[in-house]
Formats: sequence, structure tokens, C-alpha cells
Amino acid sequence: MSPMRYSQSEPVIQNGHAATNGIKGKPGLRRNSSIIPLVPTTHKEDVPLVFREPHINGGFRQVDQPWHYYFLSIFQVHNEVMNVWTHLIAAIVMISKIWKYSHEVDFVNDAYTWPFLAGLICGSLLYVCSSGAHCFQSKSELVHYVAFMVDYAGIGLYGLGSVIVHYQYCSEDSLYELLKNVYLPVGCLLGFCICLCCTISKIYYTRPYPFTRKMWQMTPVGCIYIWLNMPIVHKVYNCYMYEHGCGESFTYHIHQILWFLASAIFFASSYPQKFNPGMCDFIGHSHQLFHICIMICTSIQMDGVFLDMQQDREHLIKRGIPTFMDAFGPVILVVGLEILNIAIFQKIAKDKIAKESKSNVKFE
Ligand SMILES: [Zn+2]
Repeated sequence: MSPMRYSQSEPVIQNGHAATNGIKGKPGLRRNSSIIPLVPTTHKEDVPLVFREPHINGGFRQVDQPWHYYFLSIFQVHNEVMNVWTHLIAAIVMISKIWKYSHEVDFVNDAYTWPFLAGLICGSLLYVCSSGAHCFQSKSELVHYVAFMVDYAGIGLYGLGSVIVHYQYCSEDSLYELLKNVYLPVGCLLGFCICLCCTISKIYYTRPYPFTRKMWQMTPVGCIYIWLNMPIVHKVYNCYMYEHGCGESFTYHIHQILWFLASAIFFASSYPQKFNPGMCDFIGHSHQLFHICIMICTSIQMDGVFLDMQQDREHLIKRGIPTFMDAFGPVILVVGLEILNIAIFQKIAKDKIAKESKSNVKFE
């Protein structure tokens, strides 16, 4: 392992004038003299390996700055700012949906809407976790690992939330009865597996990552996506074969699948940044495009589910009133498992960082 050019800088607060920022070999870098303590971004060689991204050359935030620096950096141009904002906007969209729908249905007294509320909360958490992870991940190596574990927990929760709403509102009676005892338990298992497998992929692989690591991430996500869409596939089949169940929500369900496929393509690929490394450091990176596609996908998905909930009320009544635990129990269970997962793996990440820094010292 070669010694890294990265060295820790002192926390920089502000109001410096033409001062260096403490990076060895970078005397030309200047502090920003604005009232916001923005520290100049830096090149990939100046940050530890774990923060680097393929085909991104610059725009890296400094490590080991105070927490408020990372929070305020959402107003700075750097290579994570679009990732933060795309999912911050998505979180606002999802929370505003809760607000909008709360004027159309009674989330407090109408228990039939609770599974839908659980789905919306999971969707909101997905974006809050993702935006927060991208915002704070540059603080230190340990924060980087924990931040992305939280991000993966959000993805698992979103998957579970989608399983809950599709089962409750989009499944036809025959499928609902057939999967009664397995649909939600499998959804919980797959939701947790997303957090677990993505965490393993983050901790046990070192950059440059092999494609196997992507498989660790994409397999559980793909499995839960297929699982949650079973009621939709059944609906589509019945619609085309028997012209039954072709409701107004049909177009929404088809569109969300198309947007999800687009998001999967951007997630798995390194395009467009691979065409011209350095050109997508700030805008146009595949991860940003993945964020945008998934934001559109979830928004359309919830609108489609809402239509099903409103239009198939007799089906819901026939199935009985959902209890609080029917709607929120699986979410509470998976949140608990994910917290346990993060607690265990943050310890493993700490040991990994300590081991790597020891071997670096030995090498130097
Ligand atoms: Zn992301």
C-alpha cells in the first residue's frame, strides 16, 4: 500500500485571508472569506482512498472539519452537493405528500389509511437518510462508513414500505389470500437484507471496487423490488388477459417500473462520467441521475397507490381493519434490526480503520 498524500488539516473556521488551509503541498489554497465557513474543496489525491469515486477528479470536501462545516457545505459547490440536494428535494416532496393527503384522508382516525401512512413515512426516511449520508460522509472514515450504513437502512425501509402499501392496496383478492402469511415477513427479511448486504459490501471491499460489490448491493434490492411488485404484475396480467383491474392507477404503476429500471441502469453504470473523467465532478454524475430517477419513481408510485386505496375501498373493508401493528409493526421491527446492524458494523469499521492506519504507519 503506498503512503497517501492526504494529511489531516486543522479545523478551519473562517475569516482567513490568503492563508493556507493546512494541506501539505497546497500552499495556494485559500480560505473562503465569506461569513459561511466554507473550506476550499480539494483534489482526489488529497483525501483518503475511501472517499474517492471512479472518474471524479476534484470537488472533494476536506475531512476532519467541524460538523457545521458539512451542514453548511450544502450551499457550497462540491462533488456531493447535487446528491444532497436531489434527495433533500425528494424528502420535501415526500413529506409534502403526507401533508397533501392528510387533507384528503383522515390519517389519525381512519385505520385503513395507516399502511399508506407507513409507506409514506418509509419513503420520507429513505430521502432523509440518503441526503444526510451524502452531506456528512466526508467528515471522517468512520463517519463515512456509518453514514452509508444509515443510507442503506433507509433503502431497506423504503423497500419494506412499498411492500406494505402494494400488498394492502394494490393486490387483488386471490393474491392477497395466497400470500397472506408470507408477503410481509418476506418483505421484512428482504428489507433488512438490503441494509445488511450493502453494509457488507461497504466494509469488506476496498477501492477500486470490483463488480461483485455491486452485486451485493443490487441483489437484495432487485429481490425486494420484484417481491413488492408482484401485486402489480398480477394486476397487469389480469388487465391484459381478462380486462379486469385496469383502473386509473394502472399508468402510474407502469411508469414507476420504467423509472425504477432507468434508476437501476444509472446505479449500475459509470456513465456518463466514464466518457470524460472530471467532467461530471459537480453535475451529471450517474449517481445524481440515479437519485433523480428514484425520486420520480417513488413519487409516481405513491400517487398510484393512493388512487388504488381510494378507489378499491370495498376490498379494504372486506379484508378487515388494519391494526396499528399491522401497519407499523414491520417498520418498527426492521428499524430495530437495522440499528443493531449499524451498531455491530460500526465496531467492525472502527477496527478496520485502526488496522489500516497501523499498516500505513508501518509502511512509512
Ligand atoms: Zn446516494
